[in-house]
Amino acid sequence: MNRIIKQKLSNEINNSNCIGIVSHLNPDGDNIGSILSLGISLEKLGKTVTILKSDYVPSDFLFLPYVNKIIKPEDNLKFDILFVLDSSDPERLGDNKKYLLDSGCVVNIDHHISNTNFGDINIVDPRSSSTSEIIFKLIEELNLPLDIDIATCIYVGISTDTGRFMYENVTSSTHSIASKILEIGIDAYDVNKKIYQKRSLERTKLFIKVVASSKLLCSNKVSIAKVMLEDLNETNAKPEDSDGIVEFLRDTETVEVSVLLKEVTNNITRVSIRTKDYVDANKICNHFGGGGHLRAAGCTIEKNIDESESLIIEVIKNYI
Ligand code: 5GP
Ligand code: MN
Ligand code: MN
Repeated sequence: MNRIIKQKLSNEINNSNCIGIVSHLNPDGDNIGSILSLGISLEKLGKTVTILKSDYVPSDFLFLPYVNKIIKPEDNLKFDILFVLDSSDPERLGDNKKYLLDSGCVVNIDHHISNTNFGDINIVDPRSSSTSEIIFKLIEELNLPLDIDIATCIYVGISTDTGRFMYENVTSSTHSIASKILEIGIDAYDVNKKIYQKRSLERTKLFIKVVASSKLLCSNKVSIAKVMLEDLNETNAKPEDSDGIVEFLRDTETVEVSVLLKEVTNNITRVSIRTKDYVDANKICNHFGGGGHLRAAGCTIEKNIDESESLIIEVIKNYI
């Protein structure tokens, strides 16, 4: 972190009492890991912290310490500082976008290349594996409280955003932070079992159904699958139970781009894209007002799932 920003943020934190923390819709492990770790740390520092719930918390992460602190407050609170984590633009916050207007200082901490620098203070580092990695560095540099609970949340954020320390966003810094976290004494094996080895039966059934009906296009370079509302009904699965399918589709040898289309309503489709070597997933999603990273991005298309499929395939053909 640059010295001026560090000083500015440190002053803001010292002079604040009431702090809000918020992140994006459709939360992932980095979202939940970063809001909880920063929230617990600032609370241990003696601040009054509200962690705002933008959306459901995926069941994989319900074991995390202080997870019940993620709440929807009844009244509109005013914060001295609002930390916005892992969110490339205010639209990603859904209804919680309203808190941006009422807060003294907005601190935007993120690692998406598509981040719009919407904060009063912006700590945006696309070379960081995850927002949780940035939070760890911030806690170290500002000498904020750090304990096993905080470290556990950071570990979950880093592990999930790096595909278990596998993607090209992993650097020596990522491993060095993981090493420090293990030294603090977290039970990494137990955490890994909880996030990766407790898939619900419903989720497994949905996975099998969706993968079975997936298609290969563009000389097997594109793999595409659809999650219909009917599939959720038949398997008794929730929309978030489709997490992990798009990564599986990408992992076939010939595949460069994988696409998962999720039917939200008759005219709204959520799209997840993953790429492997040379296609920019962020650019593809930019065509539809979405974004993300080089190898993982998403967007929402206001069309039915079949029309959305045709539109996205047309765009992908220009990049493959
Ligand atoms: P996922 O496919 O898992 O929903 O998202 C992959 C990545 O793209 C995540 O880093 C997520 O934050 C980002 N992303 C997903 N959907 C959107 C979107 O609609 N807009 C933007 N800007 N980013 C998105
Ligand atoms: Mn995220
Ligand atoms: Mn992230």
